[in-house]
Formats: sequence, structure tokens, C-alpha cells
Amino acid sequence: MHETLSLSHLMKELQQIFEKFPDLRTGQNTRYEVADAGKAAFSVFFTQCASFLEHQEEMQRLKGRSNAQTLFGMKNIPSDSHIRSLLDPVLPSYLEPMYRLVFERLEAGGILEAFRSHTRSLLIALDGTEYFSSQKITCPNCSQRQLTNGKTNYYHSALTPVIVQANNEHVISLEPEFIKPQDGHEKQDCEIEAGKRWLLTHGKYYAGYNTTLLGDDLYSRQPFCRAVKEAQMHFILVCKEDSHLLLYETVAFLEAQGVLGKYQKRRWNGNFGEIYTYRYASQLPLRGGSDAMRVNWLELTIVHEGTREIIYKNAFVTDFAVLETTVDAIARDGRARWKVENENNNILKTKGYHLEHNFGHGEQGLSSLLLSLNLLAFLFHTVMGLVDEKYRLLRQTLRKRRKFFQHVETLLEYLLFDSWDALFSFMCRGLELDTS
Ligand SMILES: [Zn+2]
Repeated sequence: MHETLSLSHLMKELQQIFEKFPDLRTGQNTRYEVADAGKAAFSVFFTQCASFLEHQEEMQRLKGRSNAQTLFGMKNIPSDSHIRSLLDPVLPSYLEPMYRLVFERLEAGGILEAFRSHTRSLLIALDGTEYFSSQKITCPNCSQRQLTNGKTNYYHSALTPVIVQANNEHVISLEPEFIKPQDGHEKQDCEIEAGKRWLLTHGKYYAGYNTTLLGDDLYSRQPFCRAVKEAQMHFILVCKEDSHLLLYETVAFLEAQGVLGKYQKRRWNGNFGEIYTYRYASQLPLRGGSDAMRVNWLELTIVHEGTREIIYKNAFVTDFAVLETTVDAIARDGRARWKVENENNNILKTKGYHLEHNFGHGEQGLSSLLLSLNLLAFLFHTVMGLVDEKYRLLRQTLRKRRKFFQHVETLLEYLLFDSWDALFSFMCRGLELDTS
């Protein structure tokens, strides 16, 4: 058992971070502490239950104690409007130490070994996600877009980097970087600038653990690739033809000369044979101009052996050497990026984490702080899935994510638990699961 990664341990560390939240009130209402507001918002995301606080207030009234106190360390249960006003001025950077702490413990506990890929690198996938959208509510940090009906849509978005691995169902959240409207006029400029800021703030640290950045075509441009190299990381980035004309002209030239690398293999997927065809070349110019950065390029096409139908086709630029012996592993790592869309952002958006709805927007930084709390809630569940045997058994047994959270919600509404372990033990006993 990884004691320092246990939920009660992590909750305590997070509570210590909440205790450091600044209290910027000038008034006299001190009944609700800022730390309680942080704990309260986190508890709603962690339990995925919008009425958790309401239930616990009722329990407090009936029993004199509640799970808000025992499981989340709240002294008092603040109202939604108090949570909003207390947390609105708190910068999300206060939460950043928590991501590092989890990362360091996963590394020290050997858990990240299962995430190491080709050349034992950790793959960090970058992707943007929108976490607030409105046609009415706005603030100076809102980005905006014109809708076809003439109205303006205000939104907030962030980069949410995660560690992924092709064969691993889990993704591990790292510090998010918030996309600012002043970063550029185009949506993609804003995302690239946020990516560069993330590298400046966190790149050197994660580079020390041997890391490779994954990203879509948006990122495979010279300024970003340079920033990745300056941070001493590797990269495997999607490289589309229509955005890299010169590079693909060079590929066509090498092909015509008969010197483009080619490698083919067959793979049986359980139902039919798949033909993997790799094309690759080294030291291609990423763009025009004499200062063009040189990158290695590979393309993978997968064809159904029987029908000849193309099942998959994509190309990447990378700083890893592309050889007959390496292209398979590089492409597999590059393809692991789809997980950031499927397993991170979609879960956050669609599977009950209420990324876009809870508590609203605030007038200062509320929505970005809430995003970070939500990501941490997701990260804590991921850690439990990796290290906590009881939690793992429960999730396996209850199968559907929704079902697990419904059970937790109901139990916490009716019963008082002294600790997380008491809750999970109770559930395991009820389901007659062997936890010996
Ligand atoms: Zn805003």
C-alpha cells in the first residue's frame, strides 16, 4: 500500500493548501473561512454530487456532525453564494503544488513506471478545453467569438496537460495553463502562447523526468518546437500536409528520388489482418527560410488486409531518430494523444464532473479556480484507481462510473463515515468483496 498516496493523506495535504488561501474580505463576516469554501467546492466535484453540501447540512442538523467535516475537513458548511464570493479572488496557482506533490509521489512509489513509453519517456499530451461558455455573462478574462446569429459567445479555455501511455487506461493530470484572450487574435495563437507559458513555468521540472510532449497539428510549428527543445523535452507532434507545405514538398522530392524510408508490417487484431505502412525521413525543414528548424518526420497508414480500406492515417514530426527499428514505437506514442480527448476532457465534460456548470463564472478568477479544483478531483480518483485496492475492486464491481458515484452519494446522505477508508470498507463488505 502506498501510504502517502492514500486518499486521507492527499485530502490532508490539499486541506493544508486550502488553509493558505488568502482571505481578501474587508467586511466583518468571518463565519465562513476561505478554506471551508475551497473544501466545499472540492467536495462537490469529488463526490460529483451537486447537492452534497445540502445533504451534509441536513446531517449536521440531525446528528451534530457530517461527512463534510469527517471526510473533507470543513468546520462549517458555506452556502453556494459564500463559496462563490470567497473563492472568486483566489488565483488557481495556489493549487499548483498539489499536482507536483501527486506526481512526485507517483514517481517515488514506482507507479509511473507503467506510464513510461518508447525510450522510457513519459508522454505529456497537450490539449485545449473550454470550461465556461455564455452569451450573457462576461469578464475581462473571457475570450469571445462571433456567432452566426450575430451574437457574441464568451468563453474560457485552458490547456489541460496529462501524462498518457498507449496501453494504460489512466491519464494523470498536470498543472493546467489558462488561455488568455490577449494572447492573440486567433484561437490557435492563444493556445500556442498558453503552451509556451506552460513550458516556461513547468517544462524544466518535468524535463528532469525524461518527458516527451504530444500535441496536434497546431503545435508542430517552429516557435513551439523550439520552446520544447529549450525546455529539454522531446516532441512527437501531428504534422498535416496543408499546414506544412515545404516539408511535404521535400517528402515528395525524396520519394521521387527513391530515398524515402519505408517499412511495412502486418498485425492481426483478433478479427482481421492490418497492414502498417511507415514512410519516414530525417532532418526535414519544418518551414521555409534559412533559420528553419530540422525535424524528423514519419507517416503511418493502416490498411484492412482484406478490404484494403484505410483504417488510420496520420503523420508526425519528432526529434527522435526515425529508423526502421523506431518508427513503430514513435507512432504508437504519438497516437496515445487521442486519450487526452477521450479520457480526460470528455470525462470531465460528460461524465458528471460538471466542468461547465457548477458555481458559475464569478467576477474575477472563480471559473479558473473551479476548473483546477475539478481537475484535482479527477486526479485524486485516478490515483485511487492506481493505488487503492478497495477502490479498484469497487469500481470494477460497480462497472459504470455513474453507478459508483450514485452509491457514494446515497451512502454519504444517510450515514456518517469517520474516514474514506471506512466508507470504502463499508461498500466492500456490503458487496461481499474479498479485500484480504
Ligand atoms: Zn470570463
